[in-house]
Amino acid sequence: MGGVLASLESIFELKMFCLALQNDLAVSVPLLILIVCGVNVIKEIHGMMTRYWDQYGLGIAIIAPWNCILGMGGIDSFWNEDGVGGVTFKEMFPRVYALEVNKSCTVAQRINIEDWPSVLRRSPRGGAESNQLDELLEVIRHVSVSASVDGWKWELDISGFSVSSARSYIDEHTLLGSFTSTRWLRCIPIKVNVFIWKLRLDKLPTLVNLDKKGIDVSSLLCPVCKVHVENVDHLFFLCGMAQDLWGLLARWCALDIPEVSNIMEWYSWLDTAHVSNHARSILEGIASTMLWSIWNFRNALIFSMTKPKKANIWDSIVHQSFLWISSRNPKCRFRWLDWLRNPIETHL
Ligand SMILES: [Zn+2]
Repeated sequence: MGGVLASLESIFELKMFCLALQNDLAVSVPLLILIVCGVNVIKEIHGMMTRYWDQYGLGIAIIAPWNCILGMGGIDSFWNEDGVGGVTFKEMFPRVYALEVNKSCTVAQRINIEDWPSVLRRSPRGGAESNQLDELLEVIRHVSVSASVDGWKWELDISGFSVSSARSYIDEHTLLGSFTSTRWLRCIPIKVNVFIWKLRLDKLPTLVNLDKKGIDVSSLLCPVCKVHVENVDHLFFLCGMAQDLWGLLARWCALDIPEVSNIMEWYSWLDTAHVSNHARSILEGIASTMLWSIWNFRNALIFSMTKPKKANIWDSIVHQSFLWISSRNPKCRFRWLDWLRNPIETHL
């Protein structure tokens, strides 16, 4: 039984690969192929896994329904044997290891125990300690110890692996919700479309999302208002600055845009607004530019030596949206003064 077993490595990599698929495009076919091929394909994708490991760290979102059976009673050292990619568990989860009472415990003594705090000097105190314990539990959740040889068990079907059970699993757990169709807007740059797509999937590295991935952040508070936790709904819709900007947009376009608290509500209103399709497209382009500008403003607040000024952000949105939208609609007449008066009427 080498390393906290190649089996552990395999199941962890399988999870990481599934996560990577979800983070990239939520494509079902490669995942289905992966599950159909089962563990045999895992070694072949080792190189790919290493890249995803580097990119996504220890975040785990999807659990592949394989149970790993550790043979020979799990007599190896839990913390000191090679785990994933030759890295030991004590290296992967140092905060938990520091709390461990019996640092020479065996795999069998730690797999599937229900009360982890009882084998730690004290309970984890939130932050990295709790995150690392959660991640460790996630890695070993599907592992059990047996006196027989190492093996795998498909937990969704007692008769063994089946494509139908794999497909049901993917539909229920892996594919993202129905709100995933791409809204590709030609009047704004590709980078902004991609940004909006990530915003809708809640894949932007907000402070809350970084914290969910186990990355230590000094504070979760919104860098703009420093009052509320920074998630996408707050930053782009509920923060005071965002609400001011949405109000300015409504006034500029002479529209009664209601207060929206997330991007779904915004698109829901936009798609049913009583405006022409062309005006709707321009309005969406300006709003996308505004969201893009809020993100850049927030990044400048955190990373720039010179702090940006709130007073300048609206003018920059008006100017930037004019440049993008007018340059991408050569058949329409856009005049700057008309744009300033009311942008969704300028094409008439
Ligand atoms: Zn805020």
